[in-house]
Amino acid sequence: MAKMYYNGDANQSYLNGKKVAVIGYGSQGHAHAQNMRESGVDVVIGLRQGKSWEKAEKDGFNVYPVGEATAQADVVMILLPDEMQPKVYKEEIEPNLTNQALMFAHGFNVHFSQIVPPATNDVLLVAPKGPGHLVRRTYEQEAGVPALFAIYQDVTGKAKELALAYAWAIGSLRAGALETTFKEETETDLFGEQAVLCGGLTSLVKAGFETLVEAGYQPELAYFECLHELKLIVDLMYEGGMENMRYSISDTAQWGDFVSGPRVVDARVKESMKEVLKDIQEGRFAKGWILENQANRPEFNAIVQKENSHLIEQVGRELRAMMPFVNKDKKKEVVVSAT
Ligand code: NDP
Ligand code: MG
Ligand code: MG
Repeated sequence: MAKMYYNGDANQSYLNGKKVAVIGYGSQGHAHAQNMRESGVDVVIGLRQGKSWEKAEKDGFNVYPVGEATAQADVVMILLPDEMQPKVYKEEIEPNLTNQALMFAHGFNVHFSQIVPPATNDVLLVAPKGPGHLVRRTYEQEAGVPALFAIYQDVTGKAKELALAYAWAIGSLRAGALETTFKEETETDLFGEQAVLCGGLTSLVKAGFETLVEAGYQPELAYFECLHELKLIVDLMYEGGMENMRYSISDTAQWGDFVSGPRVVDARVKESMKEVLKDIQEGRFAKGWILENQANRPEFNAIVQKENSHLIEQVGRELRAMMPFVNKDKKKEVVVSAT
């Protein structure tokens, strides 16, 4: 098994006397900043004027424009949306770099050369494998979200010590951290969200829903069967793997799982997954997404509209309105949970 790093593997006083600038105060930013502060780290926030600025100040942080936060810090953690990072980096972070360690929570921009850090600075990533809101909530519960860490450039010889101290400070070493590379983190993160967690899942759910509805079954029933119940199944897998889920379902369901699952997700699906992975590895996915952003997202926005008006979404909205225990405030968390 790969080496896992836990609380005891970090030098927990490494960040004492150092200042960490968290750039961005969104899903990941607010969680890293608050967890680190409670771990005794000196944290400042770098932002533009706006909603997040107000929120970070309300939460008691000193907030500065990105350049000013960068200039005064020893460690700069960039937690802006990936597609915004190259511009903000070029205009506000890079001109204020001296010897700060540069950190990321996802390797996309460095791996695909959208950000080219100076050779003189440590560059590393600590990527929690979960949504920012859970990074915060689990920390408060004395638990944590597991993380990956990777060293891209180690100029000082201290990059790994920093990565582990940072992972400890946000609570991730309570769950375990695994060392990787920027390339491996980027490619597997993109593949996971595209083929399984987000893309694979939504396409599977929609195909099942449409199959039932097209065969004349009630859309409400198809919604419960193909979407609502999914959470209960996934919770069982999260707690104890597929064996635990299969222990809990009926033997009839388990037999159906064995004989029909591989007919649905068959060898052709795996071939398609390999093509998706190849597009990621060879930079075609990244290129398409970068160009889509440069064009102000015409295709992205058109698909959002189409997807949100799908029958499964219409039916779901009506049914959830009658289920007060399905907390709407958690919507954002669900949206970001696998990114
Ligand atoms: P969010 O979209 O949640 O947060 C964006 C933050 O950046 C907001 O505070 C926003 O402030 C600020 N911001 C946007 N543009 C600018 C700008 N031009 N100047 C200054 N501040 C700006 O980002 P995420 O937390 O989702 O993602 C951050 C990083 O973490 C990414 O690299 C992502 O891949 C990675 N990651 C994210 C995960 C997640 O759960 N979401 C999981 C693991 C990694 P404002 O209010 O002003 O818009
Ligand atoms: Mg991810
Ligand atoms: Mg991602």
